[in-house]
Amino acid sequence: MPRPEDSPWAISVMQVASRPGQSEVIDSKFPAPSGIGDNIIGVDEGDELTLKGSMSSIVDGLILSGTITAPVHAECTRCLKPISRDWDVNVTVFFPYESKADSAGTKNGKTGKDEDADIVAGEEESEDMYPLSADGNFADVEALLRDALVEALPLQPLCREDCLGLCSQCGFDMNDDPDHHHDVTDGRFDVLAQLKAQLEQEQHKA
Ligand SMILES: [Zn+2]
Ligand SMILES: [Zn+2]
Repeated sequence: MPRPEDSPWAISVMQVASRPGQSEVIDSKFPAPSGIGDNIIGVDEGDELTLKGSMSSIVDGLILSGTITAPVHAECTRCLKPISRDWDVNVTVFFPYESKADSAGTKNGKTGKDEDADIVAGEEESEDMYPLSADGNFADVEALLRDALVEALPLQPLCREDCLGLCSQCGFDMNDDPDHHHDVTDGRFDVLAQLKAQLEQEQHKA
């Protein structure tokens, strides 16, 4: 069985978890886990992610709060140009001390576990929760990196907010020349122009 510390996404929490009220700065780089997005928009597996923030200990677990910076590749949905830039995603997640809760539960008999489950479910509705390693010494951030980035990927990425897109007639990139347009050379309009000129002449005479 692989040891938790062998995971490239393991963060040692031995120090900060030793007692409540401590905080540790996190500034680490991780390879992007697989499964973030697709060819159109996503993060390539193995690309470098940065996680900056802090890990703080409270009585029943650890709170990780920080910002993930990821090199997202995407395609502008209007002009189809490739976009590649870093995206920042803020995360706040909770790592409960499950192993300690379990051992407390067994001491109190078999109802202990149910109570713990109730407490956890009631307290942490809005926060994402992830398990610590079985020995409680490591937080593995693989799943949280993936979840946070997948959730944050925009459905309709744009190269810039006011991207002008492509000309509907020839596919010209309108961002290169906002004045780009097509002169109407349709024969039917020539007839109309002639008619208009004719009418104007007659009006002059009248
Ligand atoms: Zn665009
Ligand atoms: Zn055009």
